[in-house]
Parts: sequence; structure tokens; C-alpha cells
Amino acid sequence: MSSTTEVLVVGGGPAGMAAALSALAAGARVTLLERNEKLGKKLYITGKGRCNVTNLCGRDAFLEQVPRNPRFLNAALDFLSPADLVDWLKRLGCPTVAERGNRVFPESQKASDVTRALSGGLAGADVRLGAGVSSLMTEQGSALGARLDSGAEIRARAVVVATGGLSYPLTGSTGDGYRFAEQAGHEVTPRSPSLTGLVTSDAWMREAQGLTLKNVALSAAWPGKGRYREQGELLFTHYGISGPLALTLSSLLSGTDAGQAQAFIDLKPALDAATLKARFQKDAAGNGRRRLAGALTAYLPSSLAALFPGIAGVDGMTVMSQVTAPQRDALLGLMKRLPVHIAGLRPFSEAVVTRGGVSVRQVSPSTMSSRLIRGLYFAGEVLDVDAMTGGFNLHIAFATGALAGHAAALYALENN
Ligand SMILES: Cc1cc2nc3c(=O)[nH]c(=O)nc-3n(C[C@H](O)[C@H](O)[C@H](O)COP(=O)(O)OP(=O)(O)OC[C@H]3O[C@@H](n4cnc5c(N)ncnc54)[C@H](O)[C@@H]3O)c2cc1C
Repeated sequence: MSSTTEVLVVGGGPAGMAAALSALAAGARVTLLERNEKLGKKLYITGKGRCNVTNLCGRDAFLEQVPRNPRFLNAALDFLSPADLVDWLKRLGCPTVAERGNRVFPESQKASDVTRALSGGLAGADVRLGAGVSSLMTEQGSALGARLDSGAEIRARAVVVATGGLSYPLTGSTGDGYRFAEQAGHEVTPRSPSLTGLVTSDAWMREAQGLTLKNVALSAAWPGKGRYREQGELLFTHYGISGPLALTLSSLLSGTDAGQAQAFIDLKPALDAATLKARFQKDAAGNGRRRLAGALTAYLPSSLAALFPGIAGVDGMTVMSQVTAPQRDALLGLMKRLPVHIAGLRPFSEAVVTRGGVSVRQVSPSTMSSRLIRGLYFAGEVLDVDAMTGGFNLHIAFATGALAGHAAALYALENN
């Protein structure tokens, strides 16, 4: 069985829906193929169900949050800026609000409303659910369409590949687009999980699992002059550390031998070592009979205070007046520089995004078109672009999708 369309979009996530909407707006006939039973399955779980759609920081600040290939995004951000996306969503019936750190969420605080708004705008498109694509069809350097798992073929003037990356594969993102790109002759850079937890070999962290530390600093250094230090929130888990600070560091370490990094937690970033020592000495003098583990609750959350003497090799039952100077220095030294022994990153199944993908060197940044195959376009996480948390990854998906869809429509209409 075979059918024809002008613009064929493969993948119904944010990039694919934006591409289809944009191609429709440019006047093309559009078919959107999604292998799941519904559109935007990953969107539902974004932002813990609230969906942080974009970030209204300025262009420079936006690009600073994109550790790889940021300049590739300039034309896409010109085509659909964060403010444009906010307007677009509003017109589609999904007003938004900006929160702390310029992060934008739907006013309803429901990710499902973003999907509803986008899919509502697709009324004019032929949206096929349960339609997994098995391969692209190309001939003599031109895209011809796609073949479905069912064996059916859909012919098209232009094809947009928006199949996502490899993270959270249960949402449908299983990396098919990389295979399609390679079949079309594209280079695909190595992929690794990013924005994911850090596995550590520090046994005590398992005992601290569930504890969230606010206002601590995480620092790290790794070969090749890699450096990181940021203050914020950290979470201990059954495997090591997670939370915003760990996720950001995972993005920087993604694709490297993370075990080479030396990382430390500063549990008291607001106090320098001398101030901390003076405070401890005062406490020891005033509370000489207090047990160390109890006294440390003045410095640390109680569950960590209970573990802390053990980490420093000091008996927590020692009374404060008997804590020796070397023991005190060991304790306070660790409070300022607690080693984190990183063993690796958590897998794709838990990663927010994929690092690596279709090489941007073979994709035109002004249209998202393949430089190798006429009528072939790429958008979203399938590309070798990824960013930090804060709405940046979704914006990249929306902006590259909108640009790809528009350019694909113009190409299709010109070549009709
Ligand atoms: C838990 C979690 C929370 C997140 N929260 C945020 C957030 O708040 N803000 C933010 O900016 N980013 C967030 N992200 C990242 C963001 O979700 C992704 O960057 C974004 O979804 C990528 O969009 P995409 O359209 O490129 O790919 P996807 O959303 O992965 O969509 C790809 C679609 O293509 C379909 N598909 C794949 N292969 C085929 C095939 N062969 N045939 C047909 N269809 C196919 C898939 O089923 C899928 O629906 C989060 C990610 C996760 C995992």
C-alpha cells in the first residue's frame, strides 16, 4: 500500500509536532507518523509533569546553556525565539507563566495542556498513530518518503526526521533516527546519556539516600582542564548523587571517562575554613560534654551528622572536649571538601537527554536540511545538540522543529 503527501514528519514529539504545525502554516499537505498510541508521550513527563517549555533568558545566556554546538542554533532561535514560542502556545490555547530563573511553564501547570494545544493545531494534518517507521526511502540523493513497520510506503516531497534521542526509551525514543541518518550517509556522533545521576563508589551515600542538601557546592576537575563549581541542590540516592548540581555535572562529563573526574562537595559554602574552625572551637568549649554526632547537627542535617564522624574516621560518641585537633581538622576539612568518587553516569533509561547524534556539520543551520540528501530534514534531540535543564532542551526541539517544518514545506511546494 502506498500514499503520497508533501511533507512527511517522522516522530510526534515536540520537534515533530512543531515541524508539522509549521509546515501546515506554510501551506503544505502534511502527514505525521508517530509509533505510539498518542502524541508527545515524553512531553507528559517533562518538568515533573509541569513541562518547562522554554526559558526567557536572553540569547547569549541561552547559548551558554548549550555545551555543544550552540552556534548551530542561531537561525532556529531567530525563527522561533522563546518569546515567539510563548506567543505560539498562547495562540494555540495554552497560556504560560514564567517562574524563577526565567523558566516557562503552562499556566495550568499541566504538561498535558501543552500536548493538547499542539495536537489541537494539527487538525489539518494527516496524523497517524501506531505508525512506526522502519526506514527512509531515498533515491539518487533525494528523499522519497518512508516505509512503515506494517510494510506500507508513504511517498513525500520532503521528510522531517524528528524521532528524538535514546533517553527514556519507554516513551518511544529508541534512536531510530540515527539509523535513518546513517542509512542516508550521515555521520552520527557517539551518543551518551546526559542530565542523569552520577554513580559513586562512596558506600556511605547509600546510607544517606533520600537526603536533599540545599545550598551546597559541587566542584569537579577532570582531564583536559575541565572545571565545574556550582552552588545549589544535591540529592543522595541508592547509587550516588542526583539533583540539579549532579545533573549539570553529568552533562559536562557525558561521553568522557567520568571516573577520571575528581569531585568534592562543599557542605558549608557560605563559611570559609577559618570561620568554620572558630565556630567549632567555640562550640567545643561551650558544649564540652556533648557527643560529636549530636553536636554536628548544628552544621549538618541530622542524618548526615550521624554518618559524618564515620566518614572522617572519628568515633561519633566522642565528647566534644576530647575531639583532638587532627580529628577536628579532618572533620572540618571534609565539611569543606567532601570527596565524591564518581564511578560513572546512570544509563539512558534515566537520562533527561542524549548527548551526540546527527552531526550538525552535515545539516544546514538555516533550514535544518541535510547537506547530503535533498528534501531530508532533521529536528530535535536526534541532532547532536543538547543543553542543560531549564527549558532549553524543549525549546531546541520546538525551534529546530518549526524551522525544519517551514523549510521542508517551502521545498515541497517548490518541487511539486
Ligand atoms: C523525565 C524527563 C523530563 C524532561 N523535562 C524537560 C523539561 O521540563 N524541559 C525541557 O526543556 N526538556 C525536558 N526534557 C527533555 C525533552 O523532553 C526532550 O529534549 C524533548 O522531548 C526532545 O523532543 P523530540 O521531539 O526531539 O524527541 P521526543 O520527545 O523523544 O519525541 C520523539 C518521538 O518520535 C517517535 N518515534 C521514534 N522513532 C519512531 C519511528 N521509527 N517511527 C515513528 N515514530 C517514532 C517517538 O515515539 C517519540 O514520540 C525532559 C526529558 C525527560 C526524559
